[in-house]
Parts: sequence; structure tokens; C-alpha cells
Amino acid sequence: MLGAVYAQGRMTYLCASISVDGFDEVGTQTALERADAACSQGAQLIEWRIDHANAGRDDVRVLHLVEHSPLPCIVTCRLRSEGGQYDGTERDRLAMLEKTVRTGKARYVDVELQVLDDPAGAGLREIVRKRSGDDLPTRLIVSTHDFHGRPSDLYRRLQRMGSDESCSIAKVVWQARSLRDNLQAFEVLCNRTKPTIALCMGEFGVMSRILAPKFGGFLTFAGVDSDSITAPGQPGLDELRSIYRFDKISADTKVYGIIGWPVGHSISPHLHNSGFDAMGYDGVYVPMPIAPEYEHFKATLCAMLDDEKLDFRGASVTLPHKANLMRFARAWEDLDHSASAGEGKSWRIVIDEMVEEVGAANTLSVREDGDNRVLEITNTDVDGLVDSLCETLAIDDRAKLSELHAAIVGAGGAARAAVAGLSRYGASVTICNRTEARAQELAVDFSGRKVDGSKRERRVAAGPIEVLASLQCDVIINATSVGMTGGPDPAGSPIPLYLLEGRANREGTLIFDLVYSPRMTPLLRAARDSGFRTLGGLEMLIQQAAHQFRLWTANAAPTERWRETAGRRPEND
Ligand code: NAP
Repeated sequence: MLGAVYAQGRMTYLCASISVDGFDEVGTQTALERADAACSQGAQLIEWRIDHANAGRDDVRVLHLVEHSPLPCIVTCRLRSEGGQYDGTERDRLAMLEKTVRTGKARYVDVELQVLDDPAGAGLREIVRKRSGDDLPTRLIVSTHDFHGRPSDLYRRLQRMGSDESCSIAKVVWQARSLRDNLQAFEVLCNRTKPTIALCMGEFGVMSRILAPKFGGFLTFAGVDSDSITAPGQPGLDELRSIYRFDKISADTKVYGIIGWPVGHSISPHLHNSGFDAMGYDGVYVPMPIAPEYEHFKATLCAMLDDEKLDFRGASVTLPHKANLMRFARAWEDLDHSASAGEGKSWRIVIDEMVEEVGAANTLSVREDGDNRVLEITNTDVDGLVDSLCETLAIDDRAKLSELHAAIVGAGGAARAAVAGLSRYGASVTICNRTEARAQELAVDFSGRKVDGSKRERRVAAGPIEVLASLQCDVIINATSVGMTGGPDPAGSPIPLYLLEGRANREGTLIFDLVYSPRMTPLLRAARDSGFRTLGGLEMLIQQAAHQFRLWTANAAPTERWRETAGRRPEND
């Protein structure tokens, strides 16, 4: 290992990385304006990336930037071999860095690991050493990057940095290939012998950047705006501070997330993090992308549950992993968790009855219960759908759903949740699906069951979509993916419009489209124009998230605030 673990009691710096695009007057002025913007957005350090400039690098202008930096700064002139753009000679590069140290204004200079053993780097190391007693000395950040994956000799590299006195801060960055890479970065931080930066690049690595303060990372990098990121997966300053509440993350912060593929544009981090903020809850909710195959899902989930320091407390599980979560829950007893529940503790799994009924799950929660760690698997889609419908139709008691007639278009996971949620309270349900056999199967499956708290059989039937022209019903629910951004037919309607137009009592029928992206789907637009009442899928998304929030925090979610947040988000969330 790395010797005595370094105890560090200070916060993690939020560092704005600024690429200097050109070393003429305009280029340096633009860079300084970006630094001012970073300062006002709460950055605590500036990294001047001076290697990106394609115009000739002018030492005078580099020194001007360093001397006028509105925040303490790191000077980085990255080699091409380490992912940078520097194309000059090594002698010139190191000479330029020496000059920045001599200004007395550069708090840190970042050099690559090989500089420690390069005779050409002796001058820079010597100047840094000589200035180490100054009031504001310049310190060396020694870094190593791998753009293919975690370096096989990661610990040897860390050992080299740890043992060299001229290295004040060790920095390792690699391309994450799965979420598990983040856990390895956190392990590096937990075992550090000196201030350390350990970050993962790419969409799998976002978690390492957000959670750096939880594990005592020296800093995390952020872009000043979405156009100026300097590494793949790097979040913006505003995103880190206002969505993820970076300043509030500490060793005790509980970790939640959205598991799916892809998850980059999900609105859920905006909802749950603002909910945590509203109630002062010490939690953070981060994107957790997992590749679609079950084996990836299982290995990643096991690794996160097993990692005690992560304090992983829950996740929303979305496409394509809802069925994987169900499979994982059913296989749980065969997985070996003897070592991972923590000392003297054992795991217990609780699978909610609604999960069994629907055959799919979308939520996992981890909680302590005496000597047990409990993994609870639930499905909040059902409650989310029922609540949004009751609220819209002013139904104050779910038992009154027994008077409701509903038509459901689709026979996939969302349709199952709708059939389960409505039929269990006695609503009469008709299912129409493109593949009619699937609708029949679903109807047979549910019609054999009993209405909640009664001996009555559920009323579930299947029929061709043409029945929608005349079927007596209060609500028609689209539970297909038609109309969804990136879905099978984003411009289409799952219900032929002539069927809607042929219906009587339009204002007495609610058209409820479960699709939430875009907000105004082709079906909703056509229905609204034909005089129907309409409801989009965002409300169900909010309601099902509110049930997750309650499971995790034992508090009601600030749904009004969520609706406002969602209203401000772009349509493709
Ligand atoms: P799923 O299991 O893949 O089911 C897809 C359904 O859509 C199937 O019934 C399928 O019919 C039908 N379909 C697909 N392409 C079609 C087409 N071109 N024409 C007619 N029917 C077509 O998906 P899911 O999980 O049920 O999700 C369905 C939708 O609900 C998605 O848009 C999802 O975002 C939304 N949803 C929303 C919420 C929310 O909170 N608002 C929650 C869950 C789901 P076949 O059986 O013939 O293939």
C-alpha cells in the first residue's frame, strides 16, 4: 500500500479549468473575463491551461495571466502524450513554467510524472524547492493520465509521487470504463499519503468529480460554462454548485442516483437534489450510467452495495434496467453478501408486493435495521400513476377508482404498472396494443386476481384499438413509447386520430400520455385540439419520484418546487 494514510482536514477546492485560446490581447483578455466569471460562480482556484493556444505562446502574456489571475492559480501546459496540445520543445515548456514560478503568483504548477525523473526538470524542481519557505510558495502538482482506462501500474505511479518530496499534490486521472472505476478513485483518495486528486474521465466518471469532497480529494475541476470544458465528463461550475450542492458534500453525505442507460439528460438529479436541499437532508443524487447487459448491472450494483465508504443509500432505476433490478432481486439469495454488510451485520432483502404484482421494479433503498442492512426493492411507477390520475380527476380516495373506466394503449412495463394500479382498486380496464396477443396475455394475467380488500374479481379485458372510437371510458392512457423523443415514432400518435375525432363526450375524457419527453407529444396536441382534457407524463414522473423521496428520507417531497424546476428545464429532459 502507500504507507501512512494522510489525514487532510480541509475542504475540496472547486477549480475552474480555463483554456487559453490564443496569446494575443483578445485571447488573454477573454481568458481573464472567463476567470472573473468563474470567480463569481464560486470557483476557488483557476487552472490556466496554456497548452491549448494555437497562436504562438508568448511568455509575457502567460505571465500577465498568472499575475492578474483573480483567484489563486494552477499553471498547466499539458503534453500531447498526456492529452494536452503542447507542441513545442520540452526545454521551452519547462523554462516557461519556471518563469511562472518566479512571479511568486502561481500557487501550483502541474507537471507530468516523468518530469520527476527527467534531468531537464531539475531546474523547475529546484526553483520550487527554494521557494518552499516563502509565505505563498508555489507547489508542484505531479500528474498522470490514461485515456484508455485505469493504468495497470496505478499504485506504482502513486508510490513514485508519494515518495518524491518535490511532489506536493499527486494527481491521477483515467478514462472510466464503468462506474466501478469511480470506486477505485475513491479508494485512492482514502489511502492517500499526501494531498491527492483522483478523477475519472468520460460519462462513467462524473461521479468521481461530484463526490471528490466526500473522499477528501484535493480538488475537482469544472468548466466555466458548458462550452468550455477541458476534459470529457467534466461538469460545469453552476451544475456542480446548484444541482449537486458541491459545497455541502462531506464524508457523511449519503449517496443516491439514477441507474439507467443513458442517464445524461435525466431530470431526476434536478428533482431529488433540490428536494434534499429543501429539507436540509445530507444526501446527493448523481447520474449512474450502467451498460444495458444484466452482467454489468449485477457487477456494478454489487460493487456499490459492498463499498461501505460510498454510503450508497438508494437509486431510481430506469430503462433498460427495470427488468434487471427484478432479476437481481430474485437472484439475491444466490449472491454472496456475507462479507459486505459490514462488521457484525447481515443483509436482508425486502421485495415489495407491488413489485411481484407488476413484475418490474424501479427503486432500490438501503437502510439500517438493527444488525441488518436492508435492501428494499419497490415500484413507485404504480403509485405515481394512480396519484397523478386521482389528483387530476379530483378523486380523493383511491377506493373511488372502482367507478372509473380506463383504456390503456400498450402492453409493456408502463402498461403493466397502469393495469396493476387501476385494476387493484376496482377500475374497469381495457387494454389495446399493437401486438394484440400481448394485450390478451396481460388481461388474462390480471383478470384472475381480486380487487384489493374485496372478493370481487378485477375487470380487465383486451380489445383492438378500434374500440377506442366508441368505448365508454373516463381516461385513455398512452403507455407505449410512441411520441417519445428518440422513441419508435417521435412524430406519431399511438392512437389514430380519426378514432379520437370520432368519439363523443370529448371534454369528459382525459387523454393521459405517459411519455414525458417531449412535454407536448403529438397525441396530447391532437387531443387538446379536439377538445379532450389532457395530462402529460411529467406529473407521473414527479409523483413516482415523490414516493422514492419519501422512502429515502421519510419526508414528503416538495412537489410544487419540482413542478417549477421541471417547467424551467429544456423539453428533452
Ligand atoms: P416497453 O416495455 O418497451 O413497452 C413499449 C410498448 O410500446 C409496447 O406495448 C409496444 O407494443 C408499444 N410500441 C412500441 N412501438 C410502437 C409503435 N410503433 N406503435 C405502436 N405501439 C408501439 O416500454 P415501457 O417501459 O412500457 O414505457 C412506455 C412509455 O412509458 C415510455 O415512453 C416511457 O418513457 C413511459 N413511462 C413514463 C413514466 C412516467 O413516469 N411518466 C414511467 C414509466 C414509463 P408491442 O407490444 O407491440 O411491441
